[in-house]
Amino acid sequence: MNLVILSRSANLYSTNSLVQAAIKRKHNVRVVDPLLCDIVLEQGKPVIYFQNQPLKHIDAVIPRIGSSITYKGKVLISQFEAMNVFTTLGAEALTVSRDKLQSLQKLTLANIDFPKTIFPSQFQLAETSIDYLGGAPVVLKLIEGTQGMGVVLAETKNAAESMIDAFKGMNQPVMLQEFIKESKGSDIRVFVVDNEIVGAIQRQGKEGEFRSNLHRGGSAKVAILSDEEKKVALQAAKTLGLKIAGIDMLQSDRGPLVLEVNSSPGLEGIELVTKKDIAKSIIRFVEKSM
Ligand code: ADP
Ligand code: MG
Repeated sequence: MNLVILSRSANLYSTNSLVQAAIKRKHNVRVVDPLLCDIVLEQGKPVIYFQNQPLKHIDAVIPRIGSSITYKGKVLISQFEAMNVFTTLGAEALTVSRDKLQSLQKLTLANIDFPKTIFPSQFQLAETSIDYLGGAPVVLKLIEGTQGMGVVLAETKNAAESMIDAFKGMNQPVMLQEFIKESKGSDIRVFVVDNEIVGAIQRQGKEGEFRSNLHRGGSAKVAILSDEEKKVALQAAKTLGLKIAGIDMLQSDRGPLVLEVNSSPGLEGIELVTKKDIAKSIIRFVEKSM
């Protein structure tokens, strides 16, 4: 198979892991930097040029799109779709997964539970938005944040009001969320490939930190999932149209709550902690799809 991994660099852990897994299974694999691609459109002849050469005879593409290049990633994936190349991530699914609010709107349709969330009007008083959630503490989130950046906890109503006003002042759309205290700075990351759970870790934020992201200094161990957690994770990936997904869930008094569904989930934390070859599962899924 001729495989393309769309990624900024072959030196990134996840990209390298996928390249090694593809080579082991005797595929031709190329890492293509989305930022070095030109999209050429002409009636009936969609083409992608990479470093001034047309990309030809590609069987499948595995997009690994960082949050800072979502738009370029989306239009490139659309172009591959127009070229009838199999992609593990659709353009539409990428767009929805990058928008925390739109993702929750899809999950609510599928009756999947998540922390109660408010996206207030620009003109709403901060106080009223907090009241919708029954008061402080509340979590504030940038709609397109990632790696824990852009997620803050406001412990008091006063703090929440000034933070909401500050975000508004900077013209940053922000959503407010019920704070799930009982999860105690811990969450579960479930890795799904082709409607199967291939690994799960429990992450714990460092001392005094409610965000469990590994990028924020959190630690991780293997997670043993309940049947309910498995069901919710698989449903969430399916609902967002993702064949490869990293589902973040909180364990709450009312059961598992989905926080977000990542469409280019990192392999490093999950492979190192679970000792599973997740990249191999991804390559096998691509083989099966041919
Ligand atoms: P990001 O895209 O930045 O990872 P998340 O929505 O996944 O954003 O939030 C980052 C982390 O913050 C989560 O992994 C979780 O540990 C914590 N967190 C997020 N939302 C809540 C919440 N409503 N209640 C408690 N903890 C939360
Ligand atoms: Mg997250």
